[in-house]
Amino acid sequence: MPTFSEKYKTLDLDRPLDIAATASIASVERILQQGRARSLEEFAALLSPAAEGYLEPLCHLSQKITQKHFGKTMRMFAPLYLSNECVNVCKYCGFSRHNDIPRITLELETVEAEARILHKQGFRSILLVAGEHPKYVSNGYVEECVRRLSKFFPSIALELGPLESERYQPLVAAGCEALLVYQETYHEETYRSLHTAGPKKHFHWRMDTPERAYAAGFRRLGIGALFGLHDWHREALALASHAEHLLQVCWKAQLNVSMPRMRPAKGEFEQVEFLKDHHFVQLITALRLFLPHAGITLSTREPATLRDGLAPIGITTMSAGSSTEPGGYSSFDESTFQQTREQEGEQFHIADERSPKEVAAVLARLGYEPVWKDFDQSLVRA
Ligand code: SF4
Repeated sequence: MPTFSEKYKTLDLDRPLDIAATASIASVERILQQGRARSLEEFAALLSPAAEGYLEPLCHLSQKITQKHFGKTMRMFAPLYLSNECVNVCKYCGFSRHNDIPRITLELETVEAEARILHKQGFRSILLVAGEHPKYVSNGYVEECVRRLSKFFPSIALELGPLESERYQPLVAAGCEALLVYQETYHEETYRSLHTAGPKKHFHWRMDTPERAYAAGFRRLGIGALFGLHDWHREALALASHAEHLLQVCWKAQLNVSMPRMRPAKGEFEQVEFLKDHHFVQLITALRLFLPHAGITLSTREPATLRDGLAPIGITTMSAGSSTEPGGYSSFDESTFQQTREQEGEQFHIADERSPKEVAAVLARLGYEPVWKDFDQSLVRA
């Protein structure tokens, strides 16, 4: 079976792109009637201007499908940034090598202290994030972080620079269950122009990371595109196609899809195209109709009111109270949840600054159960 990057070389997105621009009202209505998008072409029709007039029924259907497969639940997680040291130049990222920010890789004791803060807030699912730097990948640092945190976090996910399968295996053995890797942009030329130095330059190598991670034993995979780097229709089609491929070849894993939108960050980068709110809604509902079983993640990049509105229409996983700076959680005042110092080493500034408790309360008011723990290592050790 070819990998996705091999498939992608000959994948024709021109036809679905044409459908995304010109689909008729009748075709959108037909998809609504049949209750799901059965092909990439039908997914494309849901991204079209014609579908913009059907946002309400699309939201309704998307909600119904999500509740059927996931119930009225929301999986809660928090990112924990281990390091903002990075050898890559990614023009849109605050951690990009040339940006003048305080660089830090947390000591193991600090990692544990930060994780304890999140644990106290209720989290049992944590995402360890780091820039790409050989010094902490080669010396067993991440493995040791996982080993320590797995004593009190049943679910640990990673978002690191791509590795070979063999390098992932010890991380799985240490207690990691999920790997997230976002392609950022699926448009190769744009990708090359934005990633000008460091190992992240390798477009195809990055694209096949989820498959290498699956081979190493990760049981959850996360993919995504950073919206704002290229034409949103094209990114959405490529992302959906990637997800469809992974559902076939990595069928034992739970797949999660993310569509982060650009946030202000250190550096001069101007986003190419802002994905407007109503298009964002359209994209979420289209993904739900095309990928009824995939998790969809919404992060604190989005503002509070929008997150509250989006939560019931297809989202299954949310972060809350996030800091994107290594060591950032210790700077929150515990009672007010206000930051006690500026986070100069953050990757980007979040938009929803509410505490996890506040977010969980809103979800409960909407009739959703915030799920802090949905996995235990004993389930796979048995
Ligand atoms: S996006 Fe990732 S790889 Fe690129 S500069 Fe930021 S942290 Fe480094």
